[in-house]
Amino acid sequence: MAVSGIGPYDPQNIFARILRGELPCRKVYEDEYALAFHDIAPKAPVHVLVIPKGAYVSFADFSAKASEADITGFIRAVGTVARDLGLEAPGYRLVSNTGAEGGQEVPHFHVHLFGGRALGAMLP
Ligand code: AMP
Repeated sequence: MAVSGIGPYDPQNIFARILRGELPCRKVYEDEYALAFHDIAPKAPVHVLVIPKGAYVSFADFSAKASEADITGFIRAVGTVARDLGLEAPGYRLVSNTGAEGGQEVPHFHVHLFGGRALGAMLP
């Protein structure tokens, strides 16, 4: 079910639990700003989620509240993940669903990284 992209952060959300090591994930990258892991229900040959380590509900929350260092660190981590996965040359797509109408289901800001095939024209 889609969630609000604003409001209080729920520390029991799935990605918060993954960050705390309470739930498993298939990790592909981690640094002080971000954790990246394979989506449990991939929509493309490569479907990785990149999440910041801070407690942000959505892109709206992250863009408004995160420090410049955390924003820069997170964006660099996304780029590093794509590069490490060999997606720079063929290309890839980044998506961040935000709030109920954006179709966000997990209330911890995340970027979907899709690749591994020609993805076609932009959605929706
Ligand atoms: P969104 O709709 O943008 O909030 O996307 C949430 C994504 O998280 C979906 O693509 C789910 O398949 C994915 N997801 C949910 N639970 C897990 C999990 N435990 N491990 C990895 N991915 C998950």
